[in-house]
Amino acid sequence: MRRALFPAHPGPAYSGLTTWRVVVPAPELPFEPHETWGPGSLWGTQPLKDGRVYAYAAATAPQGGKAPDGEKAELLRRFGDWHDPVPGIIAAAAPKSVLRNDVHHMIRPLPAYHRGRTVLLGDAAHAMAPTLGQGGNQAIEDAIVLAHHTATGLDLGAGLAAYSAERQPRTAAIVRKSAQVARLMSLSGTPAVAVRDALMSTVSRLGPGLVLRTFDGIADWRPPRRTYAAGAQDAHGEPGAHEERPARR
Ligand SMILES: Cc1cc2nc3c(=O)[nH]c(=O)nc-3n(C[C@H](O)[C@H](O)[C@H](O)COP(=O)(O)OP(=O)(O)OC[C@H]3O[C@@H](n4cnc5c(N)ncnc54)[C@H](O)[C@@H]3O)c2cc1C
Repeated sequence: MRRALFPAHPGPAYSGLTTWRVVVPAPELPFEPHETWGPGSLWGTQPLKDGRVYAYAAATAPQGGKAPDGEKAELLRRFGDWHDPVPGIIAAAAPKSVLRNDVHHMIRPLPAYHRGRTVLLGDAAHAMAPTLGQGGNQAIEDAIVLAHHTATGLDLGAGLAAYSAERQPRTAAIVRKSAQVARLMSLSGTPAVAVRDALMSTVSRLGPGLVLRTFDGIADWRPPRRTYAAGAQDAHGEPGAHEERPARR
């Protein structure tokens, strides 16, 4: 659909990263959620609310690779000697449950996210590397802003143009930022990795707040006040208005 709407746009390109994802029953040992970077690779472990554990990994690799003996075996080769709980999580993974996906992103933004009465949102509009964990979040923001601007009673053409104008610059910037973080993660030469790791641990020691500054302007987004039908009251029982609230730090 994107190609049909914007035939001159080159479309997504391989980011150089392939990724794995798996959900496993809770490991026996307690663990802290973490994301660990190695040379050209990373592993993240996050507990889920239902007690299971979600793990994701990324590594620089040629496009289209698949392990001949399965992706669990590939994870073991690449991450089996990493710190706990990584080996335990790989061991607990059912072989067929390990997802592997090459990451494609759209560094060159689309000129708009709509054409005529057809509208794009989510990855179709702004595929990005998962290094800031924003692809799904931005898709949800798109949906909220689209609903806001196309609420019953509003002019559809103007609403779609307003959606494009509001979402395109924000998501294009996040695509670029995610690509920058992907480049940093992809470093694999020993001196470059040593400098990167030294810088990151210094910044972390100076204060976790500094690391979180990466998310300034991203995680402090607030939805438009009126999302649904024109004239409806918003969730706070107030007449809707697209007000920006002050960013929370
Ligand atoms: C390793 C990894 C980690 C990630 N981590 C995060 C994270 O922590 N936080 C975050 O916010 N995001 C994360 N993301 C990104 C997130 O998964 C995506 O941005 C999000 O799924 C995009 O949603 P979407 O609905 O736009 O597209 P999709 O989820 O791709 O949904 C599109 C759907 O359309 C279907 N489809 C395609 N073609 C057709 C057709 N012709 N007819 C009918 N159906 C069709 C597809 O099968 C698919 O189900 C991660 C991605 C990866 C790869």
